[in-house]
Amino acid sequence: MNEVKKPKKPLIFYYGIALLAVLLFNLIAMPWIAERQIKEVGYGQFMTMTEEGNIGQVQVQSNRILFTDKEGKQVYQTGIMEDPGLVERLHKAGITDFSGQIIKETSPFLSILLTWVLPIVLFIAVGQLMTRQLMKKAGGGPDSMTFNLGKSNAKVYVKSASGIKFTDVAGEDEAKENLAEIVDYLHNPGKYSEIGASMPKGILLVGPPGTGKTMLAKAVAGEADVPFFSISGSEFVEMFVGMGASKVRDLFRQAKEKAPCIVFIDEIDAIGGKRDGRMGSNDEREQTLNQLLTEMDGFEGNNGVIILAATNRPETLDPALTRPGRFDRRVPVELPDLKGREAILKVHAKKIKIVANVDFEHIARMASGASGAELANIVNEAALRAVRDGRKEVSQADLEESIEVVIAGYQRKNAIMTDKEKMTVSYHEIGHALVAAKQTNSAPVQKITIVPRTSGALGYTLQVDEGNRYLLSKEEIENRIATYTGGRAAEEIAVGTVTTGASNDIEQATKLARAMITRYGMSEDFGMVALETVTNQYLGGDASLSCSAQTASEVDRQVVEIIKKQYEKAKSILTQNKDKLDELAQYLYKNETITGEEFMKILNSDA
Ligand code: ADP
Ligand code: ZN
Repeated sequence: MNEVKKPKKPLIFYYGIALLAVLLFNLIAMPWIAERQIKEVGYGQFMTMTEEGNIGQVQVQSNRILFTDKEGKQVYQTGIMEDPGLVERLHKAGITDFSGQIIKETSPFLSILLTWVLPIVLFIAVGQLMTRQLMKKAGGGPDSMTFNLGKSNAKVYVKSASGIKFTDVAGEDEAKENLAEIVDYLHNPGKYSEIGASMPKGILLVGPPGTGKTMLAKAVAGEADVPFFSISGSEFVEMFVGMGASKVRDLFRQAKEKAPCIVFIDEIDAIGGKRDGRMGSNDEREQTLNQLLTEMDGFEGNNGVIILAATNRPETLDPALTRPGRFDRRVPVELPDLKGREAILKVHAKKIKIVANVDFEHIARMASGASGAELANIVNEAALRAVRDGRKEVSQADLEESIEVVIAGYQRKNAIMTDKEKMTVSYHEIGHALVAAKQTNSAPVQKITIVPRTSGALGYTLQVDEGNRYLLSKEEIENRIATYTGGRAAEEIAVGTVTTGASNDIEQATKLARAMITRYGMSEDFGMVALETVTNQYLGGDASLSCSAQTASEVDRQVVEIIKKQYEKAKSILTQNKDKLDELAQYLYKNETITGEEFMKILNSDA
């Protein structure tokens, strides 16, 4: 896109001009005023020079005596003395005219004018010029007078042919459908105002990072063929108090000038967080938010400025920001489902050279849970891998390997695991898979590898994508917990000791068990009472307790109970299938990798 930025003249520029003007004035005008240098001498020298006849002209003024030497080259000055013999002596020296014009006295008025008033006028003129420019830029608010500190960094993107269109954003059909209405409105506002409908002023795009929120906002501008202003919430909050507010004003003024247009505020939670009035809360941030609210109320509906904002923490936003008339529409931009992932892969695969018969659906299935940004990264990693191998085209295997790279990190080729460690990891991973397989009677994994990764994982399991699941039954959650504990259970059964390798499993299992009690109402004691609220839906899903300490400790006790029960279940599954556990673990140990099919083949064989 063409980025057009107004040239920004720093403060120093204006003062530089003023300084130069004063300098020129002093260099050229001043010598003209004092054409000749006057030399101050004592009265004695005046008398001597008079007696020697070395004197040209004399001019007696009220407060001094000016005189020249015989040649009239040098002008001298001396003070007035009580000297009755002066006139006589001068007469002797042949001087008759005491009021000769040695120096054209500049009138005091003129000299004051030139030395004092002129520079001041110059300064004021430059200052005026500057403020006027600033006022023009900043919309005339009183604190826009603070020189050019208040200038907004909002970039002006002028529409361009290479703008992003909806077709560049794969998947996200609901979001696109929702935003298509905005595009239609920007194309044809009359249709809406005719019937009296007004477009929402602000639309909030919420969803996890990397799902294409920025892309969607750009696509709206691209489709509607209108300018796109983009600024990040964190850019508003700066060192100086009042800066953020003035930036908001600035942004809206620019936007109104360019209407119809799209204003995109990324990470709006940086300024739009709840104003909780806590000690030490950020004054500047609140002022900025207040200004944003004022601006949003200030402009008429249907004036063609549509504000899109993105956040992945919608629950932290101030309620005043989300009430009708401000950001009253919320467009969820979720992680892509299987179809969405396939579409995103295809969009990005168009940008690289790739063999013709790639099974994108297979890749999409493998990359379950990946965001759009991660998928884009996967495609790029695959291309890099092909280059590294000196090939001209990206193959299916490149894509498959790059999924593991993006999700688990690069293979650590030189990391040395001892045989015992390798064995333990094999048992651990097979433990998970075997518990899962026995509970559901289906292939639990696509692939397990025990090559260490740069992310620190020693083994890596590619789960089967179960398609889109919206509901989980209590039994399914319990099975999942059992599966998480299966790794540790296998270590205990087969190796006889436990290792640190299960820390992530423990975390996941605990999270699930806790959620069963506190959020899903799956415990007998508490029933359908919400004991926790999710505070961070799109960023890991942290929850905060909302119950008494006594209840909390009871919850803890029950969590322990659930996990213990599932751990026992996993252990009994594994002991009952000890021979299969051994066989599978040996296979994985030897081959370092096992696919879902191989796994099921060994499990179902009657050896
Ligand atoms: P967000 O603003 O939600 O964090 P972005 O819009 O910045 O995410 O997306 C980051 C990158 O991920 C994009 O530049 C694009 O390459 C890729 N991407 C994300 N979602 C999609 C999508 N739905 N279709 C195509 N590419 C996508
Ligand atoms: Zn594990």
